[in-house]
Amino acid sequence: MKRILLLSSAVLLIATLLFVQHLRPKEVSADSFLMDTLVSIKVISSDEPEAKEAIDAALDAMQQLDNQLDRYENSPNNIIYQINQASGKEYISLPDNVLSLIQTALGVSEASQGAFDISVGVLVDLWKKSESEGALPSQSELAQTLSLVDYHAILLGDGNLMLERPGMSLDLGALAKGASADLARDTLLTHGITRGIIDAGGNIVVIGAKDDNTPWKIGIANPNLPGETMGFVEVADTAIVTAGTYQRFYSIQEEQYHHILSPFSGYPAEGLKSVTVLAESSTLADAISTAALVLGPEQGLNLIESYPGAEAILITDQDQVLFSSGAKQYFTLLQEESFYE
Ligand code: ADP
Ligand code: MG
Repeated sequence: MKRILLLSSAVLLIATLLFVQHLRPKEVSADSFLMDTLVSIKVISSDEPEAKEAIDAALDAMQQLDNQLDRYENSPNNIIYQINQASGKEYISLPDNVLSLIQTALGVSEASQGAFDISVGVLVDLWKKSESEGALPSQSELAQTLSLVDYHAILLGDGNLMLERPGMSLDLGALAKGASADLARDTLLTHGITRGIIDAGGNIVVIGAKDDNTPWKIGIANPNLPGETMGFVEVADTAIVTAGTYQRFYSIQEEQYHHILSPFSGYPAEGLKSVTVLAESSTLADAISTAALVLGPEQGLNLIESYPGAEAILITDQDQVLFSSGAKQYFTLLQEESFYE
C-alpha cells in the first residue's frame, strides 16, 4: 500500500513538473530574407504551436507588403511599380495600407521641408548608375534629376495617386522596413502574442517587456565601428529605428557615398552619422530618422522635438552625442571617450 502511494505521488510529481515545464514561457524564433535584408522575429510564449503560427503569419504579411512596395519588381500587386510606370500619365488607385504609408511620408516631407522625399527614386537610380559606371554624376545630370524629385508633384486624389511629371519615381525605401515591422507587430498581436521582438534590418519593434520586471535591452551600433555597440536603450512596447551613414554605400572611384541623399544637393547628406529614434510607430520612426539625418544636427533635433512621443539620440560627424529632451531616461552610453557628451 505504502509502495503504491509512493509510486503514485512520484508519478503525480513528474506529471506536475512536465505540466509546469509545458506552461513555462519559451522563446520561439524565425528568420527570413525580405526587403533586401534579414528579418528576424522572436516571441516569448508558453504556447509553442500558437507562437509558430503567429510568426509565420507575420512573415507572410511582411512578404506581401514587400511585394507591394518593391519598385523594381513588375508583379501584379506591386503598386509602387505601377505608379512609377504611370508617372505623368494617369492616376493609380491605392490600397488603404499604401495610402496610409504615403500620407505618413508626405507629412514628414512637410515637417522636414522636403528633406524627406519619397520621390527620390530617380536620384537613387542616378547614384546606382554612377556606381556601375564608376564616375560621379555630372552637375547637369544632377540638376536634371533633381527637377524630378519633388513631393509637391505627388498628386494624391481620393484614394488614388499620380506623379505629375513623366520620369518621376517613388522609392519607399526610407520607411518600408519600418512599415513592415509595424505590420509584423500588428499580426503578432492579433495572434495573441504579448511578448516579442521584431528586427526588420535594424528596424526594431518590441512587444511588451522581456519579462514582468525587465524591459528589452537593445544595442545601438557605434557608427565608427558598426559591428560594435556604443550603448543601449531599455524599452517596452516601442519601435527603435536607426538611420545611419555607415550601412549602405555607392562605391565610386574608391570612395564611399552613403545611401541617404539630400534632395537639395543631390549628394549624400552631411552633418550626422546616425539618428536613432524611439516612437510608438516604427513607420514614423523610420521616416523621421532618415529625415533628421538629411536635415543635420540642429534642424534634425528640432524635427524630432516636433513629434510628441518621439525621442532620439543623434551622433554628429564630429562624434558629438545629442539627445532629444526626453531621451536620456532610455539610453545608456558605454564609456567610450569618443561617445561622451
Ligand atoms: P535603410 O534602408 O538602411 O534602413 P533608411 O531608412 O534611412 O535606411 O532609408 C534609406 C533609403 O531611403 C535609401 O536607400 C533610398 O531608397 C531612400 N532615400 C534616400 N534619401 C532619401 C530622402 N532624402 N528621403 C526619402 N527617402 C530617401
Ligand atoms: Mg528610414
